[in-house]
Amino acid sequence: MIDWKQDPHRRYNPLTREWVLVSPHRTERPWQGQVEQTPPEERPEYDATCYLCPGNERAGGVRNPNYAATFVFDNDFAALKPDTGPDRFERGGLLMAEAEPGVCRVLCFSPKHNLTISNMDAAALRLVVDAWIEQYGELGARPIIHYVQIFENRGAMMGASNAHPHCQIWSGRSLPNEMVKEQMTQQDWREERRTCLLCEYLRLERISRERLVEENESFLAVVPFWAVWPFEILLISKRHMTGIDKLLHGERNGLAEILRSVTARYDRLFGAPFPYSFGFHQRPTDGLAHDEWHLHAHFYPPLLRSATVRKFLVGYEMLAGPQRDIAAETAAERLRGA
Ligand SMILES: [Zn+2]
Ligand SMILES: [Zn+2]
Ligand SMILES: [Zn+2]
Repeated sequence: MIDWKQDPHRRYNPLTREWVLVSPHRTERPWQGQVEQTPPEERPEYDATCYLCPGNERAGGVRNPNYAATFVFDNDFAALKPDTGPDRFERGGLLMAEAEPGVCRVLCFSPKHNLTISNMDAAALRLVVDAWIEQYGELGARPIIHYVQIFENRGAMMGASNAHPHCQIWSGRSLPNEMVKEQMTQQDWREERRTCLLCEYLRLERISRERLVEENESFLAVVPFWAVWPFEILLISKRHMTGIDKLLHGERNGLAEILRSVTARYDRLFGAPFPYSFGFHQRPTDGLAHDEWHLHAHFYPPLLRSATVRKFLVGYEMLAGPQRDIAAETAAERLRGA
């Protein structure tokens, strides 16, 4: 018999139809990870050199207003432009290209340079939730925009170029790779079983509670059974809904609260600001109902064993598939204790 917390095995991700290799027995082996430079903790509330702080000048001479809560603007170095295309290129079914129009924005969470989601108060975070909903609605309503991706890169380890609390919103006409996979699996599940994939998963996790990290009236945070990153978290809305715009007043507060408590727990885990990539997955904005989509968010943090030892997806993982050492259940237990 296999010991699922000790013996090597594979786990299936029903959202992507991909497998992850789990090797929990290796957690005791000696290993020297890369030692990162821990960023200094002392940061001012206002930084004259920060292009996101209120009143400061950005690229091209644009000056930020003296904003008091959230502030959104079109990215000065946008990856997508609204007036692109349409055009298409194809040769022999092998060389394919498509013009991609879109809009990229930056959303500052707070005028205070030294805050993070984990130390903002729930009322201020609620304004961020409201701003996400507003942006999702406004961008999604544009005829060229069929998909809106809200995401935050936190920490230099994740390539975040500016420590000011902010996220990015990239929106375009095409469905990106990760969304294509998750749309297909949720659609197929709904057609075959007449239920929702994530509603069913949520039910299983609430019964077992083994991988549960946090729970409130509106959201559940778990280390998913199929997690790739050591302390990966999946945040799932308890009520079935296709997007953040369907959140009721109380659920919006619930989202703000669980975001704060999950990120604060992350910070406590290794006693240092915890880096991660975070973002929502929700229905495309192509005008269809997309009842198969269940609102959720992913936290992908790179840290492995301390504030300085990180996981890399290299070697076997680049050439074959993802692998993890610490079992998802053990990671959830550590996060619960943090
Ligand atoms: Zn700033
Ligand atoms: Zn659902
Ligand atoms: Zn997802």
